Amino acid sequence: MTSTLASRLLDAARGMNAAGLSVGTAGNLSVRRARGFLITPTGLPFEQCGADDMVAMTMGGRSSGVRAPSSEWRIHRDIYRARPEAGAILHAHSPFATAIACHRQGIPAFHYMIARFGGSNVRCAHYATFGTQALSDHALEALEDRSACLLANHGMIVFGRDCAHALALGIEFEALCRHYLESMRLGNPALLSPDEMTEVLARFDSYGQPPG
Ligand code: 13P
Ligand code: ZN
Repeated sequence: MTSTLASRLLDAARGMNAAGLSVGTAGNLSVRRARGFLITPTGLPFEQCGADDMVAMTMGGRSSGVRAPSSEWRIHRDIYRARPEAGAILHAHSPFATAIACHRQGIPAFHYMIARFGGSNVRCAHYATFGTQALSDHALEALEDRSACLLANHGMIVFGRDCAHALALGIEFEALCRHYLESMRLGNPALLSPDEMTEVLARFDSYGQPPG
């Protein structure tokens, strides 16, 4: 099943490696399509994949093609079901996000860019074994009104409009996690107040170039 969408998915998955978000077979990526989604295969390094190795899945969890889907397909399916604005989903064990997640802590409003992910914090989902429905349930809860979350003792999830957007947000989120860890070298950083964050969130509504 070679398609433009599968090629874009594979390009973005390789972009995860190039950006240092993933190594080996850690992490996965998916993109929404009519009545389902395409997702990276389980246990195959992206560098060894062709577009034909991307796996088509239905919202019912059925896959077609030669490859088995990512073991985290439930997380991807459940986010597409619950969040209509999600066009592509990225999961990574990126170094800085994972370091924070291993403390089972979320990220507070230590920097205004936290607002990029929908609110004044990013939560950490409760721990559950990888590939389980329980992990998907916990992730969905942590993602309420947010486009990113940490997964305890595991990694992170972000979603965006399409593959390129999800990758760009994944890179931004990893940079934010790095800033948070670096800022803690001097102790706990100063946090923005609720009023300051309300102002930032309002400003983000009109930030960027007008739609062309
Ligand atoms: P997959 O190779 O099945 O996508 O698993 C990688 C992973 O990150 C599991 O959480
Ligand atoms: Zn993982």
